[in-house]
Amino acid sequence: MGNKLAQKIALVTGASRGIGRSIALALADEGADIAFTYRTSTESAEALVQELQAKGRKAVCYQSDASDFTQAIEIAQNIIKEFGRIDILVNNAGITRDGLLMRMSEQDWDAVIAGNLKSVFNYSKAVCRQMMSQHQGKIINISSVVGIIGNPGQANYVASKAGVIGLTKSMAKELASRNIQVNAVAPGFVNTDMTEKLNEKQKEAILSLIPLKRMAKPEEIASVVRFLASDDAGYMTGQVLCVDGGMAM
Ligand code: NAP
Repeated sequence: MGNKLAQKIALVTGASRGIGRSIALALADEGADIAFTYRTSTESAEALVQELQAKGRKAVCYQSDASDFTQAIEIAQNIIKEFGRIDILVNNAGITRDGLLMRMSEQDWDAVIAGNLKSVFNYSKAVCRQMMSQHQGKIINISSVVGIIGNPGQANYVASKAGVIGLTKSMAKELASRNIQVNAVAPGFVNTDMTEKLNEKQKEAILSLIPLKRMAKPEEIASVVRFLASDDAGYMTGQVLCVDGGMAM
C-alpha cells in the first residue's frame, strides 16, 4: 500500500473480473478512488465495490457495454459530477471470438473490433476534454503481445489490439501538449477466464513460446499499469510496454 495515487480518480473499463479487477485493486492500493464498468457480471462487480470501499476508497460501478459510445459519454459525465475530475483512464475491456479467418463470421469480426478498439475510442473521447481542462491525465490502454507479433486464429483480436497501439500513439501525440500521457501495456498470456477457454494442446503450444515458461498472474499486469498511472512514469508517452514473459523480445 502506498499513496502515489492519493486524491486521484481512476476509471477502469471491464473490471468485474480478470486483469481489470486486479488493476482496480492495484490503483486503489496506491490511494486512488475507483469508478469502473462491466458488462454482465453484476455480482462480482458489486463484490469489487465492497472490496475497494473496505480499503477506504470511494468506489462506484456502471453496467455498460464499452462499445456503446453514448453510454461512455454519459458515464464519464456522471463520474465528473460525482468525483469532480478524472485523472486516470484504463481501457481494459476486451473480448475474444477466435477462429480462422476462413471461417470467421462478420459478426465475430465486428464484435471484437467494437469491444476492443471502438471502446478505447469511446472512453478516451469521453474523458479527454476533462483531462485537457485539468492539464493532467494518464490514459493506459490494454493491448496484447499478439497485436505486435500476430497469432493464427485471432485475426479479429490481433487487428483490434494492433489498432489499439496505433490509437495510443496518435492520442499520445495529440494530447502531449496538455500534459496527458497515453501509453499501452501489451500482456502476453495471463491466467484469467479469457485464457481458461484454451484447450490443453493450445496451452502447451503457448507455453513453448514463452521464455519465462509460465503464464502471467493478473497482478503482474496490474503492477505495470499502476506504474504508468503514477508520476514515476511522468516522462513516458506513446510507449507500448510488453509484459509477456519475454515473448516479443
Ligand atoms: P476476462 O477475464 O474475460 O475479463 C474481461 C472483463 O472485461 C470482464 O470484467 C468483462 O465484464 C469486461 N468486459 C468485456 N467486454 C466488455 C464490454 N464490451 N463492456 C464492458 N465490459 C466488458 O478478460 P481478461 O483476460 O481480464 O482481459 C482483460 C484485457 O486484457 C482485455 O482487453 C484482453 O484483451 C487483454 N489481454 C488479456 C490477455 C490474457 O491472456 N488474459 C492477454 C493479453 C491481453 P463481464 O464480466 O461483466 O462480462
